[in-house]
Amino acid sequence: MTNNLQGKVALVTGASSGIGEATAVALGRAGASVVVAARRVERLTALEERLAGEGVKVSALALDVTDEAACRAAVERAVEVFGGLDVLVNNAGVMLLGNIEGADTTDWTRMVSTNLLGVMFLTHAALPHLLDRRGAVVQVSSTAGRVVRAGTGVYNATKAGLNAFSESLRQEVTERGVRVVVVEPGVVETELREHITDAAARASIDQRISGLRQLKPEDVADAVLYAVAQPEHVAVNEIMVRPTDQV
Ligand code: NDP
Repeated sequence: MTNNLQGKVALVTGASSGIGEATAVALGRAGASVVVAARRVERLTALEERLAGEGVKVSALALDVTDEAACRAAVERAVEVFGGLDVLVNNAGVMLLGNIEGADTTDWTRMVSTNLLGVMFLTHAALPHLLDRRGAVVQVSSTAGRVVRAGTGVYNATKAGLNAFSESLRQEVTERGVRVVVVEPGVVETELREHITDAAARASIDQRISGLRQLKPEDVADAVLYAVAQPEHVAVNEIMVRPTDQV
């Protein structure tokens, strides 16, 4: 295995914080040219400056993944700036936990639009380029795609749906050289939980993870790098990585 991604082009969504930011850094340091996309442009610009200072070829891009036209434009922009696309990391996501009964259904719309439809739009737009260069698509799913709990139903549904979409895609394109990778982290220390709107759900997850040694975003970035740096004939299809303390 080599970590040398020289000449490869990666588009990472949700690169303004957490796992996406760490993944952009890891791929860039391994030699890839990286397009970093999210809505908070000032954060992306800071990341762009930091990586460019290390000699990484990087381009920041404002993107709301719930906007299909913007997803298509983002892929085209990556291809225009760096000449093609080898790796799409669908990382942007929201986790607005809460019971189904009495839920604020605007949370559901945000989760489905971001975690599921956004990934579908980007994958659809990127696929011709990934097929062209025998590239890879990495889906940042979650243990929540595999382990269901009360109080997390719609988030579970988006991540389980993402896993289903990804396995179907894998069967469709693997013989044409495109690797589909599903990465399923357990609890990672990021901003993700701060956006939960339901106070009881927020308190419940804070309590569930208190005292647990969480993963760092870099731990997940290492898993992404491991998968995409494999030789072309090796497809790492699924990586679940949890904190040792997480049951
Ligand atoms: P963060 O909140 O730190 O990062 C989420 C990223 O998604 C941000 O960069 C945010 O950027 C971006 N984002 C959210 N909505 C949109 C949108 N509509 N368009 C574009 N970008 C968007 O959390 P994490 O790093 O933890 O989350 C990354 C992924 O990891 C998510 O898919 C999450 O479900 C998954 N995950 C996280 C776990 C954890 O414990 N933290 C565990 C398992 C999976 P911006 O607001 O600037 O647009």
